[in-house]
Amino acid sequence: MTDLSRYTTLGTGGPAREFAQPTSVVEVEELLRRGLPVATIGLGSNLLVADEGVDALVLKLGGELTAVEIDGDVLRAGGGAANAVCLHRAREAGLGGFEFAAAIPGTIGGGIWMNGGAYGGDFSSVLVRALVATADGTGWLTPADLGLSYRHSNLRHGQVVLQAELRLRPRPPEEIKAVVRDLNAQRKAAQPTNRRTFGSVFKNPDHELSAGRMLEACGLKGHRIGGAQISPKHANFIENAGGARTADALALMTEARRRALVEYGVELVHEVEFLGPIELPPT
Ligand SMILES: Cc1cc2nc3c(=O)[nH]c(=O)nc-3n(C[C@H](O)[C@H](O)[C@H](O)COP(=O)(O)OP(=O)(O)OC[C@H]3O[C@@H](n4cnc5c(N)ncnc54)[C@H](O)[C@@H]3O)c2cc1C
Repeated sequence: MTDLSRYTTLGTGGPAREFAQPTSVVEVEELLRRGLPVATIGLGSNLLVADEGVDALVLKLGGELTAVEIDGDVLRAGGGAANAVCLHRAREAGLGGFEFAAAIPGTIGGGIWMNGGAYGGDFSSVLVRALVATADGTGWLTPADLGLSYRHSNLRHGQVVLQAELRLRPRPPEEIKAVVRDLNAQRKAAQPTNRRTFGSVFKNPDHELSAGRMLEACGLKGHRIGGAQISPKHANFIENAGGARTADALALMTEARRRALVEYGVELVHEVEFLGPIELPPT
């Protein structure tokens, strides 16, 4: 059995019922036809996997499903291609518009799944269409079909993003390099970039305070349960401080939601994706 903790940036989570690393569209289609529940993972940078494991066939895309090519002003990338590789290829080709993804340590598939974004840009601003496979067939979906909105798409497990086309625009490589350097520096100053985390824990609420500022004001920075800790640098991040389990991270999230409700009347909604039997208790 494949232990999924190896495939998440937090380093927690139990085994998958079955695990496969398909390298082509045909292979994915064959795996989907087996009729098992399917979940696809990217770089595990937005994932909390249940400690008891996942009762599904878990796919991690490889081979041609990670390829990146440039065609005019369109960047065509496999669902398993890393954002960093796409950004590098775009810069080489003198194409801008994907700089927002510089500090999003995931894949194209993971980015579309939650319409990932930063610094005012997100996948919906560049995506033309995505090739998505299900047990019933494979087809292209537009951003409208995918229902992209703030950190949201309509994608569900069993739908596999195989490829995507992003429309970019001409921009000098040196300019892209400078913007990326600047964004990375901003990121490093504000967030725990050298720790094992899964990015933002909660979506920003409809409130004058961001989730991070709210949890900081609740006095939660540095709060630790088991091996998981609310980052002393940014309260909307949870770090693996050593030997963390998913249960530890969930206990911290439960406490954070309770405090935000008591002190601000706000129900925080988690941004991190859950895989396996995970439910947060009602606040
Ligand atoms: C330090 C750090 C900083 C971060 N900063 C940001 C940020 O600024 N903005 C932001 O939006 N996010 C941020 N994140 C979160 C994360 O990087 C993004 O959400 C990213 O898009 C997740 O991609 P992934 O490939 O790692 O997906 P995973 O975490 O592996 O999966 C996330 C979800 O996508 C699904 N999925 C993944 N690939 C596919 C596919 N090919 N087909 C179908 N479904 C798929 C999974 O089933 C899961 O539900 C950050 C994370 C870290 C660790």
